[in-house]
Amino acid sequence: MANKVQTDRRDFIKYSSLGVLGLVLGGGMVFTPYALQAENRLRPPGAVAEKDFLALCIKCGQCLQVCPYHSIKLADIDKGYGVGTPYIDAHERGCFACNAVPCVLACPSGALDHSCEKAEDIHMGIAVLEFKDTCLAVSNTPVPHGYDKRLKDFTASVRNVTELELQLVERMSGYEGKECTLCADVCPIPNPITAISMVRDSGGGSRPEIYDGCIGCGACEEICPTKTPSIVVKPRVTYEQYYENQV
Ligand code: SF4
Ligand code: SF4
Ligand code: SF4
Repeated sequence: MANKVQTDRRDFIKYSSLGVLGLVLGGGMVFTPYALQAENRLRPPGAVAEKDFLALCIKCGQCLQVCPYHSIKLADIDKGYGVGTPYIDAHERGCFACNAVPCVLACPSGALDHSCEKAEDIHMGIAVLEFKDTCLAVSNTPVPHGYDKRLKDFTASVRNVTELELQLVERMSGYEGKECTLCADVCPIPNPITAISMVRDSGGGSRPEIYDGCIGCGACEEICPTKTPSIVVKPRVTYEQYYENQV
């Protein structure tokens, strides 16, 4: 029965989106070169190409209202362009690739593509071990006391904390003094070893290695305990574009 409801909802949104699309296109939206450069914000799952996203998003906030992890924010005036459009600040709160991707289901405008129906359909970007030198695993440094303060503070700061958020805090507790594998362990895709795993490093420690199953959700960036996260997500970049040019 649950599947049936989801299918009906997708169909409803698909057809109602046509009306909204007409309104947006008819509205004569203008794009500045600055806007089209795409400041490269991490957009919610299913986001269409940035130019189309900016045209289609009606800034209704439906996606963020259904997100059980409070991952989605609406851009403020200080973000320069796309005021009111949804984005994810992975350093504060990544996406956790929920079953049936409710943010996409909730989007009435087509800005989030409804063919994105499960975790593996999400392609937000790609994780990169940007700062290898600060990675605790690489330097063989145990996870320090208070490593999960940001996670706990964020959870304490949301008004309507959900069971999923509490489970996340619980799941990511107990790492203090251990080898850091936080980024690999938090990865929410159903088969995380296709996205990230810890491999032995030539320096004697280990390091996270990222694979093409990474969906760029940013959960690893959020949990990384170093002051500036050692692992970060590059929005809208594919594995091939990033890693195959790094040789
Ligand atoms: S997939 Fe889930 S956690 Fe990620 S943005 Fe959508 S609703 Fe939020
Ligand atoms: S490696 Fe990081 S960004 Fe990629 S899917 Fe896993 S948690 Fe998300
Ligand atoms: S979370 Fe991952 S990238 Fe960050 S310090 Fe630990 S092993 Fe390194």
